Amino acid sequence: MEALLTKLYEQNELTKEEIVYFLQHLTPELKKRLFRLADETRKKHYYKSVYMRGLIEFSNFCKQDCMYCGLRKSNSNVERYRLDEEDILACAAEGYDLGYRSFVLQSGEDFRFTEELMISIVTSMKHRFPDAAITLSVGERSEDFYRALYNAGTDRYLLRHETASRSLYESLHPGMSYDNRMKCLRNLKDIGYQVGAGFMVGLPGQTHQHLAEDLLFVKEFHPEMIGIGPFIPHSATPLKDAIGGTVEDTLVMIAMARLFVPDALMPATTAMGTLDPTGREKALSAGANVVMPILSPLRVREKYALYENKICTGDEASHCRNCIEMRIVAAGYEIELSRGDNFNFIRTPENEHVL
Ligand code: SAH
Repeated sequence: MEALLTKLYEQNELTKEEIVYFLQHLTPELKKRLFRLADETRKKHYYKSVYMRGLIEFSNFCKQDCMYCGLRKSNSNVERYRLDEEDILACAAEGYDLGYRSFVLQSGEDFRFTEELMISIVTSMKHRFPDAAITLSVGERSEDFYRALYNAGTDRYLLRHETASRSLYESLHPGMSYDNRMKCLRNLKDIGYQVGAGFMVGLPGQTHQHLAEDLLFVKEFHPEMIGIGPFIPHSATPLKDAIGGTVEDTLVMIAMARLFVPDALMPATTAMGTLDPTGREKALSAGANVVMPILSPLRVREKYALYENKICTGDEASHCRNCIEMRIVAAGYEIELSRGDNFNFIRTPENEHVL
């Protein structure tokens, strides 16, 4: 175990067999050291900075039927909503006034938001907030869509791979294709986006082997961002009786992902804060370095329920800003409000010509 931990820390790699062995034999004492080494590794590239992204959840309509997600199309208990361009800009303006220079626009797979409409939204945001980075997270679209939105000024795209195991992926995503998800991720990277992949921990049927495949996938794909969170069962989905992921198991995955991909930006997810009041702080100490406070209007917050009992659904954006800042500082980190690009995307005189 000592040798494996050292190899992971010094060489940023392990084989699949080594990962599985490591997960099976992890003791509480070794876990603490793993977290400390992950924290140290993140500081090499990003110091103590915790990057802020204002999250705008602009539509909960979804044409997909993911088994775990509260927004799946078969869930008729959801009151569906869409924000219009003006609402979205107002949320961003509120965030901008609070100092945020990075916004994430997320939704279900809602094709009412056509390429044309999305271009209009991104163009207006870039015009009004030229020094802010824009991230989209709207699911699987065509390569042409991704290219057009990139050309309109979108900087980043979040599309978790959810699980790198084809069979597990297919059991959780009726009507969707593993190959298409992977193709989307590849297209996004080739186009030039800073890309976010990621997975859930504690999915029904997920084994150490599956988690090893997730870690090896992020190592190989080398996304700029990696979102890892616990699966939280939602009562209006087929997985309502599943057990779900734990904070501890998710922390191990965050720490290992940090060691496999030292320069990634990794969120301390809202799902972690939902399972444990200090879950996000724990994630920061295990290698995460991003937080995504919600900027969506209060009237729609509860309707964007991927899972239940989500935190911060009743809090004003300014309250979230203060609460998060207090937590980050108390955990020993520093709040960073700038665009927060991935280390490899920060412009220098040397790389100006390729970025
Ligand atoms: N439609 C977009 C955004 C999905 S929501 C897309 O396809 O990318 C963002 C993430 O929430 C998902 O990628 C998934 O990993 C996570 N999620 C969904 N349901 C969840 C649940 N019940 N528990 C925890 N995380 C969940």
